[in-house]
Amino acid sequence: MTFIIDGMLGRLAKWLKILGFDALFLADDDDKILAVARREGRVLLTRDREFIRRAGRHPALLIDSTRWPDQVLQVLTRFDLYGEARPFTRCLECNVPLESLSHEAAARLVPVHVFEKSEAFSVCPCCGRVYWPGTHHAEMERTIRDLLEDSRNVGND
Ligand SMILES: [Zn+2]
Repeated sequence: MTFIIDGMLGRLAKWLKILGFDALFLADDDDKILAVARREGRVLLTRDREFIRRAGRHPALLIDSTRWPDQVLQVLTRFDLYGEARPFTRCLECNVPLESLSHEAAARLVPVHVFEKSEAFSVCPCCGRVYWPGTHHAEMERTIRDLLEDSRNVGND
């Protein structure tokens, strides 16, 4: 399942990507967003009721909350996705899956102090940005754990 997210929901888009989901953020006019949604078969996520109406029969979800953690939970719960989260597998800039990077290649691309401390590296095939576990703050990982646990609790209600 892939998503397209309008200009009002930047943090939702960012966090869906952190969780590994294909979440295209597009701050553009409604017609352009809908055209991309239809062409690429993406579920529209918006807080704009009128936009949902205009989407007609195209799959869309009206996001209820103004708080991003609740927004993420609404999406995970609605589409039953909490088991499919793969945190830190997608470039946050380009929204494409990261590829693993060999140790030899990483040695040429990252600072020495990073290379010596990290074991696994991945790279965005689109922008070339290199990711390693240290790029993800501990706080971010805690937030993800909380989110995924919350969504399990929601499912049990
Ligand atoms: Zn990238």
